[in-house]
Amino acid sequence: AEAKATASTALQGVSATQVLKMFIDGQWVESASGETRNVINPANGEVIAVTTEGTVEDVRKAVAAAKRAFYEDGWMETPASERARLLFEVANKLEQRAEEFAYRETIDNGKPLRETEFDVADTVACFRYYAGIATKPHGQTYEVADPMQAMVVREPIGVVGQIIPWNYPLLMSAWKLAPALAAGNTVIFKPSEVTPVNAIKLFEIFEEVGFPKGVVNLVLGAGATVGNEIATNFDIDKVAFTGGTATGRSIMQAATGNLKKISLELGGKSPNIVFADADFEAAVDYALFGIFCNQGQVCSAGSRLLLEESIYDKFIERLVERAKQIKVGPGTAEDTEMGPLVSEAHMEKVLSYIQIGKEEDGATLVCGGNRITEGELGKGFFVEPTIFVDTTPNMRIVQEEIFGPVLVVQKFKDEADAIYLANDTVYGLAGAVFTQDGAKAQRVIRKLRAGITWINAYHPTYNEAPWGGYKQSGIGRELGTFGFEEYTEVKQININL
Ligand code: NAD
Repeated sequence: AEAKATASTALQGVSATQVLKMFIDGQWVESASGETRNVINPANGEVIAVTTEGTVEDVRKAVAAAKRAFYEDGWMETPASERARLLFEVANKLEQRAEEFAYRETIDNGKPLRETEFDVADTVACFRYYAGIATKPHGQTYEVADPMQAMVVREPIGVVGQIIPWNYPLLMSAWKLAPALAAGNTVIFKPSEVTPVNAIKLFEIFEEVGFPKGVVNLVLGAGATVGNEIATNFDIDKVAFTGGTATGRSIMQAATGNLKKISLELGGKSPNIVFADADFEAAVDYALFGIFCNQGQVCSAGSRLLLEESIYDKFIERLVERAKQIKVGPGTAEDTEMGPLVSEAHMEKVLSYIQIGKEEDGATLVCGGNRITEGELGKGFFVEPTIFVDTTPNMRIVQEEIFGPVLVVQKFKDEADAIYLANDTVYGLAGAVFTQDGAKAQRVIRKLRAGITWINAYHPTYNEAPWGGYKQSGIGRELGTFGFEEYTEVKQININL
């Protein structure tokens, strides 16, 4: 047990006594605020790290550095091959330290090691993907009118501000930083104050591989101060945000002053539609994975399960039987399938939605519904896998994003009814359909008002394909060439030679 404890301390790489700093203009700095924030392990409530608490002033310093690095120090002219080389180096170094990053992600965010190991591999792949994209052709030429030729080039936007949430701390860092840097921008990056440790360690790698001073800046602190300054600052040319829809709306408003370019990846309440002719066991598997992966704290979670009338009872019976078998525990234990929620505050929010569900007229709780309070788990923020059935579209638990392990089940009569219910939401992030009828699958998926969809699967995500939402789930796309283009301006050069 002692050897195991020593091994985990080494993997942790942070401590409750050392203050973690920000990386601004090539230096590790503590904020002049003198304030700090504790980072909590949600599996047991213990402090795993302490961070310096950044201020508006710190953001301004980072912006000045990023602006200088872009214009005066010449980062904007750095060849794509050099940017690619740096990003490949980041991927390689991260890969060598994969075990450590996965462990730290688990004690910071709570999700099981089996998920964070996957997240780290995905992060490495994302850096490699955009390292490759940097050097690929992005321009166009047109023979407009003899002898004129029009050449279209993509150029970096300039100084980019990026803000991410706590549900995929490391992976979201890559989704933001890799395309922005590949495209040649300089960056001010803010992780969630709830889960900052792996972003800090990633910036140690940025320093190690030798990004020039001021190209990558890490600021730490609260959304209302540091985050809001990123959205407001006149010298930031673009803000890219992932987080809740309400926060996205305030960022959009804050960004109007200098008409920043914006991309927003926001919340969801995504439908998972199962027809009677689906492969039954596969659909049950994916329904469980769709909602309980990452404790339901996934923007694209399949949080509404739509079942065709004729399989409704049988499907629920099997689903509940399986959900009850999910092994809930600390993410560091090998057999854990579901970990704690990210924080006490977030757990309270999820529990309050469960309470609303219990009180809503008509909804029936058939699985879970409680915080786990016994034994060691009582020290952490664990909530049972929870399922409500017999829900109706007007219920708050059906309309609002809970962002936890809470599934609501809806019944549908036919294809048209399924499509109507699926789209009956202000969100439009993701959705899936399960059926063995290929034509029906295509018909339904094309009518879903959502940006990320699956047929006979839920959740697999690829760097190559664009990620983002319709309706109030966001603006713009991440990943793929779409994600790269979001970090570029387009210039036409008309040539009379
Ligand atoms: P959040 O909106 O509370 O916070 C996200 C980030 O924004 C944090 O870094 C926070 O400090 C910062 N922030 C908060 N208020 C701010 C403000 N006024 N100005 C600027 N920045 C501010 O979200 P969260 O609770 O960390 O994450 C959960 C939400 O994120 C869910 O709604 C989920 O759906 C969404 N999400 C979306 C995607 C996607 O790709 N669409 C991915 C992951 C999470």
